[in-house]
Amino acid sequence: MARRRQIYEGKAKVLFEGPEPGTLVQYFKDDATAFNNKKRGVITGKGVLNNRISEYLMMRLGEIGIPTHFVRRLNMREQLVREVEIIPLEVVIRNVAAGSLSQRFGVAEGTALPRSIIEYYYKNDELGDPMVSEEHITAFGWANVHDLDDIMGLALRINDFLTGLFLGIGIRLVDFKIEFGRLWEGEEMRIVLADEISPDSCRLWDLKTNEKMDKDRFRRDLGNVEEAYQEVARRLGILPEGGPRDLKGPATMQ
Ligand code: UDP
Repeated sequence: MARRRQIYEGKAKVLFEGPEPGTLVQYFKDDATAFNNKKRGVITGKGVLNNRISEYLMMRLGEIGIPTHFVRRLNMREQLVREVEIIPLEVVIRNVAAGSLSQRFGVAEGTALPRSIIEYYYKNDELGDPMVSEEHITAFGWANVHDLDDIMGLALRINDFLTGLFLGIGIRLVDFKIEFGRLWEGEEMRIVLADEISPDSCRLWDLKTNEKMDKDRFRRDLGNVEEAYQEVARRLGILPEGGPRDLKGPATMQ
């Protein structure tokens, strides 16, 4: 059978044409990058884990009425998603100071923020994803005021839900990045959660020990990266059957 047509290859995922019009297959790779592509590596089994973790979180968010692009998981490394027009923004929601916020404002990592903060970055690798304001977003036409209203409302609901979900399994949701897309249904357009939610795009700290259970282990060479991702999946109750050895299995490509 002919290989499916590849639509796009990103740093951690590949998008293929889906089985029906308006669908795509999202394939999760083991490749990891950080610092705008300057650091590269492979986290063995990461694609399998992120596929499962993102499936689980998108499904749970769907259950509380958050519209998402997720349709269903197809196999170990692939999920079927609705084709959307990606809004070129990285939406970051922060509950605790860390990473670039700590650096920019000199706030110690781990300081609880007085309230959740939403930030926007323009998705553009060549420019290094610069931080932008709502003024930039509307002036350059990446989204209008109404879209931004929807995005902000959804981001806060997602944050509240995920904060509670992770708290229940002993994990602090420090911050995370999400992306949204426009889903067209005839003349109607809806903004939906797209891309992925996984330890690649979240900061997750153990509630008791503050141990990092996310991509910072890769960014900062802390070791035990695979184990940390596995532990997140284990606590969510979704570690692939057969345990860690199941993770390196080949992806079925049709
Ligand atoms: N993040 C991401 N992709 C990016 C930049 C950030 O998924 O290109 C996530 C990151 O994992 C963290 C949050 O967004 O959970 C905030 O990241 P920050 O702005 O602190 O940047 P960093 O310190 O990771 O460069």
